[in-house]
Amino acid sequence: MNGSYSQFLKPHIKIHPQNLPFLLQINSSFYTQFTRHAFNGPLTSLQCGALLQKLTNLKSIKMGKQLHGYMISSSIILNNTYLNTKLSAMYAICGNMDDARLVFDAILLKNSFLWNVMIRGYACNGFSLNSLVLYREMLCFGNTADNFTYPFVLKACGDLLLVEIGRKVHCEIVICGLESDIYVGYVKNGELREALSVFDLMGKVRVRPDYVTFLSVLPACADLAALKQGKEIHGYVIRNSTEFDGSVINALIDVYCSSSYIAGGRQLFEEIVVKDIISWNSMISGYTRRGDVAESLGLFSRMKLEESVVPDRVTMMTVLGACGQIAALQFGMCAHAYIARNGFARDIMVGTSLVDMYTKCGSLGCSRQVFDEMSERNLVSWSVMIAGYGLHGRGREAVASFKEMKGEGILPDEVTFTSVLSACSHAGLLDEGREIFLQMRTEYTLSPKVEHYSCMVDLLGRAGLIDEAYELLRNMEVEPNADVWAALLSACRVHHNVKLSEIAAQNAFVLRPEGIGLYISLSNIYAMEKRWDDVEMVRAIVRRKGLKKEPGCSFIEFNKSIHRFLVGDKSHCQTEDIYAKLEELSVQLKEAGYIPDTSSVFYDVEEDVKEKMLWHHSERLAIAFALLNLPSGMTIRITKNLRFCGDCHTVTKLISKLVSREIIVRDARRFHHFNDGSCSCGDYW
Ligand code: ZN
Ligand code: ZN
Repeated sequence: MNGSYSQFLKPHIKIHPQNLPFLLQINSSFYTQFTRHAFNGPLTSLQCGALLQKLTNLKSIKMGKQLHGYMISSSIILNNTYLNTKLSAMYAICGNMDDARLVFDAILLKNSFLWNVMIRGYACNGFSLNSLVLYREMLCFGNTADNFTYPFVLKACGDLLLVEIGRKVHCEIVICGLESDIYVGYVKNGELREALSVFDLMGKVRVRPDYVTFLSVLPACADLAALKQGKEIHGYVIRNSTEFDGSVINALIDVYCSSSYIAGGRQLFEEIVVKDIISWNSMISGYTRRGDVAESLGLFSRMKLEESVVPDRVTMMTVLGACGQIAALQFGMCAHAYIARNGFARDIMVGTSLVDMYTKCGSLGCSRQVFDEMSERNLVSWSVMIAGYGLHGRGREAVASFKEMKGEGILPDEVTFTSVLSACSHAGLLDEGREIFLQMRTEYTLSPKVEHYSCMVDLLGRAGLIDEAYELLRNMEVEPNADVWAALLSACRVHHNVKLSEIAAQNAFVLRPEGIGLYISLSNIYAMEKRWDDVEMVRAIVRRKGLKKEPGCSFIEFNKSIHRFLVGDKSHCQTEDIYAKLEELSVQLKEAGYIPDTSSVFYDVEEDVKEKMLWHHSERLAIAFALLNLPSGMTIRITKNLRFCGDCHTVTKLISKLVSREIIVRDARRFHHFNDGSCSCGDYW
């Protein structure tokens, strides 16, 4: 130590005694190293900041202390919150908590980054109690904890064996909806695997894993769908069951529901004597994620009827998501009523989920009404509303909402641009789409991503500007993916451009070799041109690769339950009536001049068999069921897992005219509103 700091000290600066130790760290070698050679003169505050970052990354505490001293001596650090924050972070990250605290206490405006750095520093350096005290202080000062705070608070609870507090913190995490973020948002994929390997290690060296270990490792298992590790932990929990409470069981349910073993999750769930809200939410969202919506809605009904637990906002958002998945409008409306009765309606995220649900259930009017009644709307709410208009082919309303949103001072992000551009493409708004695509770069300095290009290729292709679409695709500044090529392929199908469709298909095949939809599209294009040899060649490839088409499946809601029809389904209790109705419709349509288009049938069979196969497509079964059961005049709403085939689209248009009914079908891409013989998609989908 030497006292050479005095040579840098400006005369008017008074040194607080507590800063003296830092000043004493400075020696002339520091001065030489950093100021003369590196920067050619005294350091600016910006340079100090950069240097601090470098020293933090290098964990070079000795140099850091010298820099601290220098900053005091040159009064750079005085009242500079930015530098003080960086300095405190440096000490905390290097494990010198005493000095970190000294700087921390002097900072008046502490941001959440700083709080998090300190909480983490204490938790990781064996000062668990300080970490928890600081966490409480952070909340008292009105800061909110986030996914950078919680893992270390949980760790501190674990180190101190404060199981009850740990449980409370876990509840807070779930309430904030951060449960999955903590590991997905914070720990990178590779580190998740590390978490699991540490757990394995603990088992090997016979360290008893504790409660917090499980709470840290189980979400990692769930994200990786690591069923094996999950089961090992389950075994451990059974052997030591007295030590563990509900949160570990709930985390285990999550693991099972995320992997292929949902039955295991359900069994655990049923074994819990007093199920808490987290258990219910885990189970309901498990089924929703797997697309088993009937089961998830069934559980929700049971939760309300049988048990003493009250659904919370997380439950309601999951249930609304489930309703949207299969367009269960009646269920969705019941959920809406429940939300209104129980005061969730003011919650911005619940409101946004409602807007999304109504859109996906085909009720755009209700969707807009909920949207207009929301007391507060954020970027997500707007994006959901705009995407909803797009899904229904209402491009003008989407563009108007986009402008309205900007008028309210909300800046669009990449997701909003995808929503509005896809709305333009679904509605064929060429000029608007072009202008908005341009705005991305000029007004918002966002570079278009592959999904934005995909919308533009679709939009240009739909307008018949296929060469321009191809030109845009070739000049993209990002690598094209299979979706962009598929969009070009669709355009070629509609505009009968065989040559370009072959180029598009070849490129798409390379990027998505198992994409059966691409092969079907190409084969349909050849069939339209009556190039039967080429059709056969494509089919031979499909056979050789063993690719299977996902079976078509349609849903319709009737009498508070969901009726599901697979292609050629004969399991429904009204099967006989349904097929008789289809026969009747087929005769009536033929009399009206309908000629079946069998080019999309992907099998080598006789023409009349092909025709029969078309009549057994799942959406037709659902329509027949609706005509038999729904009161006359009532709109028919159907959801389908795949895209409409050309012939079903024609038939549905004709049926809507024949029976004078509105038929709304959501296929894999968008909504089709059939009315009086035409469709809202304008025959482009
Ligand atoms: Zn069909
Ligand atoms: Zn349509």
